[in-house]
Amino acid sequence: MVGVGTQVTELSVGDRVAVDPSLYCYECRYCRTGHNNLCERWAAIGVTTAGGAAQFAVAPVANCVKLPSMSAPRTRPSSSRCPARYAATTSYQSRLGATS
Ligand SMILES: [Zn+2]
Repeated sequence: MVGVGTQVTELSVGDRVAVDPSLYCYECRYCRTGHNNLCERWAAIGVTTAGGAAQFAVAPVANCVKLPSMSAPRTRPSSSRCPARYAATTSYQSRLGATS
């Protein structure tokens, strides 16, 4: 996080987050019954609003899931064998599964 709104208490600058890009209305019949994926006014960051491929994006705090801090991976996969984005995901998943 590089900035938070004045009413945000759940997150702080410096936190790492994953962002659900879907923007639900929370008012339609589907949202009210827990079927947000069928939202009648569905929108998404990077699809119906700007920010999906930008260096910085603004997201509602409800769409942000705080991630644990983590150190850099011990080894980095070769960029010729594995795209950087995939490597980052793989590295994070392996840390989630770690038992020690
Ligand atoms: Zn809705």
